[in-house]
Amino acid sequence: MAGRNFLFVPGPTNVPDRILRAMHRAMEDHRSSAFPELPTGLFRDLKKLFKTTAGQPFIFPGSGTGAWEAALTNTLSPGDRLLAPRYGQFGHLWIELAKRHGLRVDVLDVEWGEGAPAGRIEEILAADQQHEIKGLLIVHNETATGVTSDVGAVRRAMDAARHPALLYVDSVSGLASIDFRMDEWQVDLAVSGSQKGLMLPAGLGILCASPRALAARDQAKCTRAFFDLGEMIKANATGYFPYTPAVLMLYGLRESLDMLFEEGLEQVFARHQHLGEGVRAAVRAWGLKLCAKAPQWYSNTVSAVMVPDGVNAADVIDVAFRRYDLALGGGLGRVAGKLFRIGHMGDLNELMLLGALAGAEMAMRDCGIKVAAGSGVAAAAEYYRSTARPLTPRPTAQAPDAQAQAAGAKSPRATVAT
Ligand code: PLP
Repeated sequence: MAGRNFLFVPGPTNVPDRILRAMHRAMEDHRSSAFPELPTGLFRDLKKLFKTTAGQPFIFPGSGTGAWEAALTNTLSPGDRLLAPRYGQFGHLWIELAKRHGLRVDVLDVEWGEGAPAGRIEEILAADQQHEIKGLLIVHNETATGVTSDVGAVRRAMDAARHPALLYVDSVSGLASIDFRMDEWQVDLAVSGSQKGLMLPAGLGILCASPRALAARDQAKCTRAFFDLGEMIKANATGYFPYTPAVLMLYGLRESLDMLFEEGLEQVFARHQHLGEGVRAAVRAWGLKLCAKAPQWYSNTVSAVMVPDGVNAADVIDVAFRRYDLALGGGLGRVAGKLFRIGHMGDLNELMLLGALAGAEMAMRDCGIKVAAGSGVAAAAEYYRSTARPLTPRPTAQAPDAQAQAAGAKSPRATVAT
């Protein structure tokens, strides 16, 4: 098919050309004396991304799932109790992974479409007088439902309950797109991956650990080998890795962080909010509902759109892909077939998103969903147009003669004229 595939799954996201170019290089010796400069700069700058001064970032070849495992196994022992509100498929998968490591998980089921219930968490922690609960698992941005939780409110609940549990936060689809404040929220283990807001291919599991989390390693008896932080800490101290790192991914990460800081983190978050608002305007105009139940849960990186009863959302996704070359995300777990997801994170602007909304709208109409032609696209376009940034003054063009005179040179045209 001619033209570009429109990749609008909520990760992997589009990899900008700049990052592709930065990764397009010959392999090199990861034990050379020149190598440490690259990882050392990455560790320094990942701290800025996580908004931490005290935390220590780790980069594993792997993915978000690997970073989940690293977070748990380095800080806990089999039989330890965890509290985990479950409001989507990724929270569910993290809980299952924890159980396989012999951890006992008190699952707090929450309706899918809502987020972490700070009030109920406070009650449960306050009732745990013996402090048997060792950790709390929170998914910052539940990619399966398009729900963002208020991690700051969770921290306040933990403090109000005066509970010392470690706070584990999955920000796989939040980091680098939605504000994340590791130190302010006193997150102990922050988990992420490369293929979402960082705009890289999948291939890195990224973790950031607080001093408390690092201290917990001494007592933690879960089996760990590849993901052992101890080996990483030793090697990373001199800018190396205990095994062969994914060197090209590291160059990509360098470029990604440079791009994020050039745009400015706060501007990156504002852009995602702006893009998300346009998608939500489209969903309203279609007369459809988001899986997220209320504005407080709306995610700025992914919107999960419920399809009407009697329609299988998988058909919409299939038609969008085969007919219009648009990749949308499917419903996962218990919402399979009930929704499709539009990813709006990473290297993205309004017009790209309008293309995806047009494709989603066409595919929905093809599948018999009664959305008015052009309605969602028009609503999003009008939102983007009416909230567009004021134009900066156009630079006044100087005639080449004037430039040359300003530089003290004789104008070539003047020479011809005389
Ligand atoms: N957590 C969340 C919120 C995710 O969205 C994902 C993947 O989409 C994961 C964890 C798992 O990450 P990975 O697929 O990189 O292993």
